[in-house]
Amino acid sequence: MNIVIFGPPGAGKGTQSEFIVKKFNLFKLSTGDLLREEINKKTPLGLKITSIVNSGTLVSDEIINSLIENIVSNNDYKKKIIFDGYPRNLSQAENLNKLLFKYNQKIDIVIRLKVSLNIIKKRITGRVVCSKCGKIYNEFFNPVPDNETCCEKKFLQKRDDDNIDVAIKRFETYEKSTEPVIEYYKKMNLVKDVNGEIDIESIYTKINDYLSVIEG
Ligand code: AMP
Repeated sequence: MNIVIFGPPGAGKGTQSEFIVKKFNLFKLSTGDLLREEINKKTPLGLKITSIVNSGTLVSDEIINSLIENIVSNNDYKKKIIFDGYPRNLSQAENLNKLLFKYNQKIDIVIRLKVSLNIIKKRITGRVVCSKCGKIYNEFFNPVPDNETCCEKKFLQKRDDDNIDVAIKRFETYEKSTEPVIEYYKKMNLVKDVNGEIDIESIYTKINDYLSVIEG
């Protein structure tokens, strides 16, 4: 099963993907994570894209498409990918379709998390990520539990693009570039909407119901 998880920045895609990956034994392909890795390692690509990512606009399709093919073509991940933060525009969606076809695969379902800008603002300003294990928390809504052994305070980091101004910009970019992608997948009858404003477990229950039907 290949899944696309959709939603504005801060909708909870990363958090829900972690659960889905564990339960259904999938590989998470987050283009945002791949790009941040390049930025943190200060590779030539990383240096080129730092200011773009930090301003909340999109990196060029050529860069993104080359990152994707490496993974879609890998037999270890065949029919086992959850795409998080990709495709972000129509041309990326068309490219993904072609690529999956080339490697005898397809998208089975598109989960869209629906969250309003007001909630997004709160989620984004509170978001912290554990630099050791990658787990995502929110200082207001989902703090690190007392019995957690890995994610000590000193490991918790904020993303450079997680501030109010950039959050609003990213939300606008999402609405403008990404919504047409939803229309594209709606025509293929793949889109399932999930309310992303309820609590984390209830969101996951809904998603799990949809995925279990596909897994049979
Ligand atoms: P994310 O972690 O998905 O919120 O992505 C963070 C930032 O990385 C975005 O604001 C973009 O600048 C860039 N980015 C991530 N995925 C893509 C993509 N598929 N296409 C273009 N830019 C992307």
